[in-house]
Amino acid sequence: MELLNKLLAIDFNYIVIGFIVAFYSLEQIMNTHFKFNKRPQHLLQNLLFQVVFFLGNLLWAIVLVYSIEWLNKNQVGLFYLIQVPVWLKLILAVVLFDFVTYWFHRTSHKAPLLWRFNRVHHSDTSMDSSTFFRGHPIESFLWFGVGNIVAAGIFGLDLVSLGLYFLVSVPFFFLEHANLKFPTWIDKTFGLVFTTPNLHKVHHEQDQYYTDSNFADIFILWDRIFGTYKHKPVEQIKFGLKEFDEAKKQTFWYLMISPFINVRRIGSDELKKIE
Ligand SMILES: [Zn+2]
Repeated sequence: MELLNKLLAIDFNYIVIGFIVAFYSLEQIMNTHFKFNKRPQHLLQNLLFQVVFFLGNLLWAIVLVYSIEWLNKNQVGLFYLIQVPVWLKLILAVVLFDFVTYWFHRTSHKAPLLWRFNRVHHSDTSMDSSTFFRGHPIESFLWFGVGNIVAAGIFGLDLVSLGLYFLVSVPFFFLEHANLKFPTWIDKTFGLVFTTPNLHKVHHEQDQYYTDSNFADIFILWDRIFGTYKHKPVEQIKFGLKEFDEAKKQTFWYLMISPFINVRRIGSDELKKIE
């Protein structure tokens, strides 16, 4: 418990910066799956998203902390009705935050307004760990802010458990997007329960049949249980969204305003006709 408190006392931004350094370095020296045509440009655009991500963090963290403290003070949520040992509550909290995120993510693919924001993350045609940051700030607020407040309100989760959830989920986010080779035995073992890098990459395939699958961040179990699990060998995956393929639609500025532009989604059948 003391160790957990010490870990949670570390500024969340420092943890993320540590991962950035580690993953960006690994991607340079390791043998990777995917080659980049214009790697410096790709990195520059995603770095701009990274800046927005850190600035956004400052804002939504305030809303998140005040909202969850208010919920806890008023004893809102399931864990205020039933008694659960602290250690079990912490484990369950990670599971439940991930569970709510799964449904939020799944809804983001179904609801046209939410998809306009989520497609920014999907637009990346060549993926590496910088893709983790490629998300619209409004979506970050909805996802990390509102989604987690809803989870805390339903289940009675507190800030310590939210800190633990971030501590567990951030390494997953980096691994899932990293341009590194991961052997298939990892999918056959850990992939039964956890979202492995190869399984998340299926979610980034252009074909909507696969885009609408493997929504989970930590536990792929949710996809397996609720029928959205799909598999495709990682070497066959073509990243991105056909409707965002053009170079001008890959820029930071275009992507920032893209939720407010009508961009028609190209579905599986249409994609097959094009190719
Ligand atoms: Zn992703």
